[in-house]
Amino acid sequence: MSATHSARPSFASFAPPQRTLMGPGPSDLHPRTLAALSRPTVGHLDPTFVGMMDELKELLRYAFLTKNELTFPVSGPGSVGMETCFDNLVEPGDKVIVCRNGVFGGRMIENVERAGGVAVIVDDPWGMPVDPQKVEDAFKANPDTRVLAFVHAETSTGARSDAKTLAEIARRHGALTIADTVTSLAGCELRVDDWGLDAVYSGSQKCLSSAPGLSPVTFSAAAQERIKGRSRKVQSWFMDLNLVLDYWNSAKRTYHHTAPINNLYALHESLVLLAEEGIENAWARHARMHRMLRAGLEAMGLVFVVPEEWRLPQLNTVHIPEGVNDAELRRRLLNNFNLEIGAGLGPLAGKVWRFGLMGHSCREENVLLCLEALTESLNALGRPTDGDAAFAAAKAALAS
Ligand SMILES: *Cc1c(COP(=O)(O)O)cnc(C)c1O
Repeated sequence: MSATHSARPSFASFAPPQRTLMGPGPSDLHPRTLAALSRPTVGHLDPTFVGMMDELKELLRYAFLTKNELTFPVSGPGSVGMETCFDNLVEPGDKVIVCRNGVFGGRMIENVERAGGVAVIVDDPWGMPVDPQKVEDAFKANPDTRVLAFVHAETSTGARSDAKTLAEIARRHGALTIADTVTSLAGCELRVDDWGLDAVYSGSQKCLSSAPGLSPVTFSAAAQERIKGRSRKVQSWFMDLNLVLDYWNSAKRTYHHTAPINNLYALHESLVLLAEEGIENAWARHARMHRMLRAGLEAMGLVFVVPEEWRLPQLNTVHIPEGVNDAELRRRLLNNFNLEIGAGLGPLAGKVWRFGLMGHSCREENVLLCLEALTESLNALGRPTDGDAAFAAAKAALAS
């Protein structure tokens, strides 16, 4: 009688727990950003909404420090922003130098190959920055390279690469750059125009602390020219910038797809918050909270993976101490403290923990919660840890 497909489901509304998000993203939403999500939905061609879209583009130009006209949020997570850059800039047969020093460089290679391009891979060890000398050598060996692609802030390891120097090398060799700034935007210094980056994508849920699902992008005039001069259409209809722009960048506001209205309200609010704080102040806050967390973690005897000069303040990766059960510890943090941290990815799985200090999550009270939760959990799992010493070190680092 009762076929499963005709049974009427009866569930209560979903009530998520209140976590503290200190992993590799998403980060905690500011209450104002969360409130923006629940405002009334309007039509995506509504004149009030169109006005908000213009503000959003201006706010994004401020966050990226660019005057690029072509700056807007792609409807989709960071991965869609990534694919938008590669699909539009890479034509079949194009040679692309891709720097790989973690998970996301590996994904860039996939993107190049799926767009029909030829990837020239420059590998660096996980936990290290991209080596500019290797990139220089790759250009010398491949003078016909059209694009250089690299990850500014490699979230899988916590390493920052020198985007400014890499862009200089590309420019000298007549190539455009594609830069992944998903984790760097608003968390550490990023200057799109001063550094001369061409195609740049980011994400809403990392240091901007908005809801996941939007990918801010910006394109230089040279990148736009390359896209307009393509010899064949972009394979993806959805990501073809020539079509998207009739909605985002022209007075016509031609229907392309239904914009994720409420999600865009949230991004707008998170960017208003960023503008109120000031971009340089946001970078400084991430650096300050990083010094505090780092002092506490080191006082516990934990060791960072990335050399000091290249550490991302917003993503702190440490080796898991000998004999501590990784999954068990993270379960304790979640169940006893409502605290989420990140596990290791790829070759670092089971070997490291990743502590995110991103956007609204990057606050003193969270650093202290993290140190307290870690102390209790390490002690419970049989690794004696002095929480008082960690607290004192963290407070001292903040005062210095
Ligand atoms: C998170 C992340 C992405 C992917 O973003 P999604 O929103 O998960 O698709 C890409 N690159 C880097 C460096 C990231 O940290």
